[in-house]
Parts: sequence; structure tokens; C-alpha cells
Amino acid sequence: MTERLTERTALQRRCEAARRAGRFVGFVPTMGALHEGHMALVGEARRQGADFLVVSIFVNPLQFGEGEDLARYPRTLREDLVRCERAGVDVVFAPRPEAFYPPGFQSRVRLDGELVTRWEGACRPGHFEGVATVLVKLFSLVGPSMAVFGRKDFQQWRVVERLVADLDLPVRVHAHPTVRECDGLARSSRNRYLSESARERARAIPRALARTAGLWEAGERRVAALREALRSTLSEGVDTVDYAEVADAQTLEPLEGLVRPCTQKEAGPVLLVAARVEGTRLIDNLWLGVDASPLVS
Ligand code: AMP
Repeated sequence: MTERLTERTALQRRCEAARRAGRFVGFVPTMGALHEGHMALVGEARRQGADFLVVSIFVNPLQFGEGEDLARYPRTLREDLVRCERAGVDVVFAPRPEAFYPPGFQSRVRLDGELVTRWEGACRPGHFEGVATVLVKLFSLVGPSMAVFGRKDFQQWRVVERLVADLDLPVRVHAHPTVRECDGLARSSRNRYLSESARERARAIPRALARTAGLWEAGERRVAALREALRSTLSEGVDTVDYAEVADAQTLEPLEGLVRPCTQKEAGPVLLVAARVEGTRLIDNLWLGVDASPLVS
């Protein structure tokens, strides 16, 4: 039976009791509108040994900028609870924003450096500060031994790893590969915004990733050629591209020239994409040499 909690103190007490009883607490933070991508993280937490599993469902206002989709972000709590129940989640924490950030709240976790100022950080000022702040609060309440994040948000995963290392947070971070729809589109709560025609055009994103991955597998190591393949295929479908780049998979620094030769098995750079289709902003990525090519029919 999944327990649904909305109050911070109740969550903290419940997790403390679980830890005292010797349970290995795993945590999957989400904004809800749960789909197979989220549920894969739940499965991963179990595989990594979590025997007390907490999922948070909270559309965190701090990580949305002005003019973004905070008000219309899909909220499907009832369906989300059913999914969590079926997956055997122990606790769903779904607070109201006013209870999570009570009057007087004014602290922020600030990140400083190129990992957060480029890509999503440049397009969405304040976004990672909002993500870091909510996570530090959630980690304090849950006290998980491990937490699972999706590689769908590649930069967020790297930022979380940095945050945990820099602040010595006692939680192990696991990452799960991106879960995709049959047509290759990365699963996302925001896919609900897409009309049928927009959905069709959005398929240029996995197609672009697949084509570039194909070149990589065929031995292409010139960054300009990889980037050109990515961008030209994207332009077949999307309206605008916020960025489409080849970046170092650790530092997320954009690469130039030739990618350092690496063996067939070695992890290469990451392709990072953010694009808009009919007003919906979608992000995706592919880690060359690591991720399977998106299935595109
Ligand atoms: P969100 O609810 O969008 O904030 O996502 C919550 C967590 O689920 C984050 O760690 C995301 O990276 C992860 N996630 C979202 N979509 C996917 C996906 N398609 N595959 C894997 N993980 C995902």
C-alpha cells in the first residue's frame, strides 16, 4: 500500500522510522504526470537495493522562469498514485507549494560555474538554482541512501552529481538511460502538449540523434561534421533550435576540431539538443558510444 504524504514533517518522520528499522531508503524525485521514463527510475531504485522507496511529485515553482509553462504543466496526481501503487512505491510525497515553501522562505542553493551556465542554464536562467534548492530540501526530508535520476535530463544529472559531491550530501546518485516512445521520441510529461502534427515534426529530434550516432559509429570524429548532421536533420522538423551541440560528456564543454580518438567501446561525447515545435520546448540527448541509437521507424 502506497502511503500518500503532503506534509514535510510527516515525510521526515516516516523516513526516519524506516531508516531506524534498517530499511535502505531510495528516492525518485519527479514533477509528476508520470510515464514509463519515471517508472523505469523506480525499477532502477529497486534493482539497486532500495527496500523503502519514496517518490516525490512536486511541480517546483522555483525551477520555472517567467513565461514558462508552470501554470499549464500537466498535473495528474490521481493517475500518478495508481502507477506508484502498482509499482510498489512505499511513499508518495506530494506537497502543496505553499506548504513546501512556507511564507518567509528565502534560501537558495546557488551553483556557480560553467556546468550550470551553459545549455539549459543559459536558456533558463535560475533553473538549476531552483532544481538544486528543491533537491537539497527533499534530500534533507527523505534522507535517502540513494536517488535515481534520468539521463533524459543529462545536464541536470551532471549538476546533481556535482551538487552531491560539492556539498558532501550522503546520497548515492544513479542515472538511468532515456526511455523512448516506439517512434524514438524521448518520453516526457511535456509530450502531452504536442498536437498530432507537432508530434510528427518532433520526430526530427530522435532522427537527428540517430543519424549523428550512425556517423559516429561509422568512424566520423570531426565535430563540425557531427554537428552539421545533427542540425540539418533537426531543421527538417522543428521550428527553432535553442542549441544542438557536441559536448564533453563530463564537463559539458562544447567540443571543436576532432574528438580525441577512442576505442569502439569507450564513451564518447554527448549530443545535446533543445528545440521548439509549435511552441513546445523539447530537450533530448544521446551519449555517443554509450546510448543505443533511438529506434526510428
Ligand atoms: P521530471 O518529472 O520531468 O522532473 O523528471 C523526473 C525524473 O525523471 C528526472 O530525473 C528525469 O530525468 C527523469 N525522466 C524524465 N523523462 C525520462 C525518460 N524519458 N527517460 C528516463 N528518465 C526520465
